[in-house]
Amino acid sequence: MVRRARRINRELAEVYPYAHPELDFRNPFELLVATVLSAQTTDLRVNQTTPALFAAYPTPEDMAAAVPEKLEEIIRPTGFFRAKARSLIGLSAALRDDFGGEVPGRLADLVKLPGVGRKTANVVLGNAFGVPGITVDTHFGRLVRRWKWTEQEDPEKVEAEIAAIFPKSEWTMLSHRVVFHGRRICHSRKPACGACPIAGLCPAYGEGETDPEKAKKLLKYEMGGRPGQRLSPPPDYPGSPAPPLGAG
Ligand code: SF4
Repeated sequence: MVRRARRINRELAEVYPYAHPELDFRNPFELLVATVLSAQTTDLRVNQTTPALFAAYPTPEDMAAAVPEKLEEIIRPTGFFRAKARSLIGLSAALRDDFGGEVPGRLADLVKLPGVGRKTANVVLGNAFGVPGITVDTHFGRLVRRWKWTEQEDPEKVEAEIAAIFPKSEWTMLSHRVVFHGRRICHSRKPACGACPIAGLCPAYGEGETDPEKAKKLLKYEMGGRPGQRLSPPPDYPGSPAPPLGAG
């Protein structure tokens, strides 16, 4: 199983060399806020919402002092906006009061912030601080169970079992690759097995559509030729249009 798991990871690395977090962010605070907002909605929806949010409240101090109704109005499109607004104001106040207005780079500190669980903490650690972390979201859990890497349902137990299969250096990118695969091909209800590059390694092959033509029709995730949902990608973002000649 371990050998096959590592092979799947290697194959996915070739299929998704550009795997990355799909939330737009410019600093750890923005990533933390975007990740809290991403619960129960798409990264695209979050990316459409955060520019106005960060224009209104660029720092934890600003967000902690927000009028709740005004903040709720801005984040309403992401759903569960009252609870999310409470989390954002609460975590901003905690950053201001306990961490000098900075996002801490330790799991133990991050999970104490209101609305921040292990998943959010690992996203922030892995992508804003370069600390290896396995992010168990709905896609990750579903795929690793399909591949029989674990039978656990509890995200913390899943995280521990997968951590034992891979070296730390792989954790963050493995998380991105698996989520990329879950969003694009190995869907929850209709996995596109007939269009899946790792079908030969997958114990769950056949759970979804195996006819290649029909399977291909299930793939409609990428936006405008870009491999992902970021709307304000950094300049080195894979798939970003090449800068105009003479620029930079
Ligand atoms: S073969 Fe099917 S179930 Fe297995 S990873 Fe591919 S899409 Fe998912």
